[in-house]
Amino acid sequence: MNAPMILVAQIFQETNGLNSVPTELSAFQIEVGQEMIDRNRSADSLGGMIRTAEAARCKLVSTVAARRTSPGGRVSNQAFEAILAPITNAASNGHFDAIVLDLHGCMQTASHDNSEEEVVLRLRDIVGPEVNIVAGFDLHGHMTTKLLQNLTFATSYKTNPHPDPAATGERAMRMLLEICATGERPTDVVVGVPMLTRGNDETSSGFLAEIHRLAAERLERDSNLLDASIFNVQRSSTRKTWDKRSLSTVEEELRQR
Ligand SMILES: [Zn+2]
Repeated sequence: MNAPMILVAQIFQETNGLNSVPTELSAFQIEVGQEMIDRNRSADSLGGMIRTAEAARCKLVSTVAARRTSPGGRVSNQAFEAILAPITNAASNGHFDAIVLDLHGCMQTASHDNSEEEVVLRLRDIVGPEVNIVAGFDLHGHMTTKLLQNLTFATSYKTNPHPDPAATGERAMRMLLEICATGERPTDVVVGVPMLTRGNDETSSGFLAEIHRLAAERLERDSNLLDASIFNVQRSSTRKTWDKRSLSTVEEELRQR
C-alpha cells in the first residue's frame, strides 16, 4: 500500500468546571491549512504526529490546530462549532485514508460535558465505521466508553508533569501507520481501577508511580501489548458505566483471545 493520506486536527483545551468564565474563540491559538502543519512541525504532541507522518512520506490533509495552553472555563458553543466546522467539512470532502486527532480529553463546552466524545462521534458519523481514527490525549483526559469505542486506538501521556507529549504524538501516529499498513486493528480493554487521586498528583511517586511502573514492565515483557494508558482523573468516582473487572480477569480474557 502507498503511504496513506492522513487528515490531522487538533482541538486542545483543559476545562476547569469551577471557572464560570466561558472560553471564547479569541482565547485559542489557531492555525489553519498548510500553516497548521508548518507552524506545528516542531511542536510537542501535534509536532510528534506531523514529524512521524512526514518521516514515513505520508501526505497530511491539514484542517485546524486550535489550542489553549492554560486551563479555562467551558468553551462557548460558538467557539467549539467554529473550530470543528472546517474539520468536519474536510472529513466530508474525503480524499484521505485515516484521521489523527490531538486532543486534551477533558474539554467541556456549554452543551457537551465531554466534547472530545462529540468530536469523535461527529467524525465517525461522517466517515463510517471503517475509517481508522486515532487520538492522543493528556493523561488528565476524561475517557468515556463511547469515546473509546469510536476510536481505533487511543493513547495518552505517561507522566505528570508532562515531558512526553511529543512521544505521545509520535506513538499515536506510529500506531496509525501500522494499522493502515497491516489492516489489523488493536483490541482495547478498559478497566476501572478504584482509586481517588488529585489532578495534580505526580507520576514519579506514590501509587501512581507504582501503577505506571507495573504497566511499563508489562509492556516491556509482552510484545502483544501495544500500549497502556492510565487516566487517573475522572469526572465522577461513582461512575457506573465502566467495567470494574479485576485486572486478573482481564488478563485471563486477553489470553483467551
Ligand atoms: Zn495534564
